[in-house]
Amino acid sequence: MSVIEDLTRSLGEAVLTGDRITERYRSDASLTGRNLPSAVVRPASTTEVATALSICNAHRRSVVPQGGMTGLAGGANPDAGDFVISMERLSGIEEIDAAAATMTVLAGTPLEVAQRAAEDAGFLLPIDLGARGSCQIGGNLATNAGGIRVIRNGVARDNVLGIEVVLADGTVVSSLNKMIKNNTGYDLRQFFIGSEGTLGIITCAVLRLRPLPAGRLTALCALDNYTHVVSFLKRAQRELSGLSAFEAMWESYFRFNCEAEGRKFFETSPAFAVILEQDIHGKDGEREQFEAFLGQALEDGLIGDALIAQSEKEAQTFWRVREGHAMDRLLPSLVNLDVSLPIGDIGRFAEECGMALSMRFPSAHVSFFGHVGDSNLHIAFSVPDADEESAHQVDAVVYPLVAAYHGSISAEHGIGTLKRDFLDQSRSAAELDVMRRIKNALDPNGILNPGKVLR
Ligand SMILES: Cc1cc2nc3c(=O)[nH]c(=O)nc-3n(C[C@H](O)[C@H](O)[C@H](O)COP(=O)(O)OP(=O)(O)OC[C@H]3O[C@@H](n4cnc5c(N)ncnc54)[C@H](O)[C@@H]3O)c2cc1C
Repeated sequence: MSVIEDLTRSLGEAVLTGDRITERYRSDASLTGRNLPSAVVRPASTTEVATALSICNAHRRSVVPQGGMTGLAGGANPDAGDFVISMERLSGIEEIDAAAATMTVLAGTPLEVAQRAAEDAGFLLPIDLGARGSCQIGGNLATNAGGIRVIRNGVARDNVLGIEVVLADGTVVSSLNKMIKNNTGYDLRQFFIGSEGTLGIITCAVLRLRPLPAGRLTALCALDNYTHVVSFLKRAQRELSGLSAFEAMWESYFRFNCEAEGRKFFETSPAFAVILEQDIHGKDGEREQFEAFLGQALEDGLIGDALIAQSEKEAQTFWRVREGHAMDRLLPSLVNLDVSLPIGDIGRFAEECGMALSMRFPSAHVSFFGHVGDSNLHIAFSVPDADEESAHQVDAVVYPLVAAYHGSISAEHGIGTLKRDFLDQSRSAAELDVMRRIKNALDPNGILNPGKVLR
């Protein structure tokens, strides 16, 4: 019996073939996927995921897990002949435990749906990123997603207490722990978080919830140089107990997006613009303290100017500039590079990297922004007449420089295929060897997302 007959006999309508396989399954948001898979399985339960994997494993057919397809590293893109397991039907909130402050959620649940459910129960789900409407909890965990509020509550991995996964041979490993302290041997969940679908398929997770803030105070600040950005960050971390975001934009990024959005926040475009955000809890004097903090920073010459949002709507105008959606529209084949560097070195790195890129690609747009408080820098790069693949020539210029600064070639987007061949710039031979041994132990036939992360 063929693998498709086997799958269809066991899973019926959950298996799509031929014309029923739509464009959705071709590429993630990197737009580098070129192939449709041979078949798509859309399981609605952990048992169905296990059935699909054990059949594919028995037939030695490679399987690509797909979540919301918002990944930027090519990790969910199928090769010709691959089978896809799409998690879109395995969706829903299983439980919110108010005493434990946890949410048990199925992997295919869109992040925004999980966030709303937490808020309805009076909690904050701290995982948050621009793709919240489409990305899924399983994809967030598989990529160990970051985002704009990492400075307060950590990356995805820091907000997971328990996990359920299905291994390549169909074994279900249910580790749906709700406790903060649990030192019972190896921490299995951490094998799968950030493994980009190469070690197992995540089907369910227990996430940590936090108290829901009553609101947020947001300021947009103008600074003269990177040294001031770092000093301002350190002071904010020391003095603002609810600091929830610290986002820096270099001049050309800020100017480009202000112009595209038709906004003029400052008389002249500053060398650096920082969005500072603080969670508040409805206590007296919180706004005054925030204003006093900014007033002191102005008086000390750390910042040159500051605008405090008077409403949520005004705060959104700051965030729209930072999110830079206009760039996707206006710059051809935009590449958003995502690297990590020691915080004190980011300014120098950006200067050196900007010069190297301008020399190599004189007609390119290059600009910098990032979650500087988490040591994460993004580089917006676009060259006229390049397609999504050729635009990645930029990688060979940027990643060796990142290595020279002892940085990481991926802060939050993961490795997928797009960074796979540069992984040795950030990981030693011994580390890569351990990764291969783990992969071989958990997936001896190499059927799970082959060619992703490791060659
Ligand atoms: C506008 C925009 C903003 C973004 N902002 C950020 C940001 O701030 N921070 C950040 O970290 N990322 C960001 N991203 C990247 C992306 O949204 C994240 O990587 C996200 O976590 C991917 O989730 P997904 O469900 O779309 O996964 P997919 O793209 O479908 O898959 C990503 C990887 O995870 C694997 N996978 C998916 N689901 C599972 C599962 N259930 N079990 C095992 N493996 C699985 C896939 O095989 C693939 O390797 C952004 C993307 C866009 C388009």
